Amino acid sequence: MPQKANSTMRVKPRKGKKDRRIWKTPEQRRLERDAPQVIPMYKTQKELRLDEIQRWMDENLPPTGTPEWEALCTGCGKCCYDKVWEDDRLLLLTSACPQLEVETNRCRVYAERFEIEPLCLPIGPEIIEMGGLPEDCPYVENFPGYRGPKVVDKSLDEMQFIPESQLH
Ligand code: SF4
Ligand code: SF4
Repeated sequence: MPQKANSTMRVKPRKGKKDRRIWKTPEQRRLERDAPQVIPMYKTQKELRLDEIQRWMDENLPPTGTPEWEALCTGCGKCCYDKVWEDDRLLLLTSACPQLEVETNRCRVYAERFEIEPLCLPIGPEIIEMGGLPEDCPYVENFPGYRGPKVVDKSLDEMQFIPESQLH
């Protein structure tokens, strides 16, 4: 990411709020009693993994959007280069996102990057889970067992793609 990383803020509940007692009217109690039962849902393995990564981020990185978070980015620009899947691992290619100014490693559309480039992802559990950041990126270099994309000396145009008809 050439300039700043994503800055989504999460809001924690205020202290003591969960202890507050809530008095309900008889009508509210009746509605609750007659409401259809909610079937308990369980998280998938991937969701659990994303939670685990988020916990690691909370404990090991500055809060997203703060100057300390932004300062971690060295501006190497590597995360803005094309990536494709090969089996279960991403390949990092030599061709860059069209919005990257390769001379300066700056994004031309930084403020609206997620609207303009649907493949542009914020730095967060999803991109870490898929191994989309290079291993020397400060956001993940201390993540235990992190495996980043494999560097390949080919551009997106040079990659051989399997025709969709052969995928099924
Ligand atoms: S790979 Fe990491 S350090 Fe390099 S530009 Fe992207 S976020 Fe910044
Ligand atoms: S839009 Fe492209 S150049 Fe800009 S941050 Fe996203 S991947 Fe990088």
